[in-house]
Amino acid sequence: MAQKDDCIFCKIANHVIESDYVYEDDLVCAFRDNSPQAPVHVLVVPKDHYDNIVDGVPADVLAAMVHAVGEVVRICGIDKDGFRVIANTGAAAGQTVMHLHMHVLGGKKLGEGLI
Ligand code: IMP
Repeated sequence: MAQKDDCIFCKIANHVIESDYVYEDDLVCAFRDNSPQAPVHVLVVPKDHYDNIVDGVPADVLAAMVHAVGEVVRICGIDKDGFRVIANTGAAAGQTVMHLHMHVLGGKKLGEGLI
């Protein structure tokens, strides 16, 4: 799997378009959401294109995403207070950018419901 020409997150993850990056390694990067829903709202995305979390994502990429979540919460200072990780999957779940991403949200008391 590689990049997809018309995908905004492929462009951001591979620095074709620059963004407000928090963390990066060989497989993934993390950048601030441009419409933040919490004081800390960061998106963790793979550099290769996968539509969503069940789109045949290799185990090393998934592991790199989880590792990146840990780095993001430490860098942003929300590791101790608690945070939320969300991967909206499919339009009915509210996925608007069809490139796998995990939202990392924190920095305030979050709502208690799941939906
Ligand atoms: P989704 O609704 O789960 O697909 O989340 C997509 C997220 O991407 C939304 O929270 C948007 O605010 C965010 N987003 C869309 N385009 C950009 C961008 O160019 N930079 C940063 N965040 C973006």
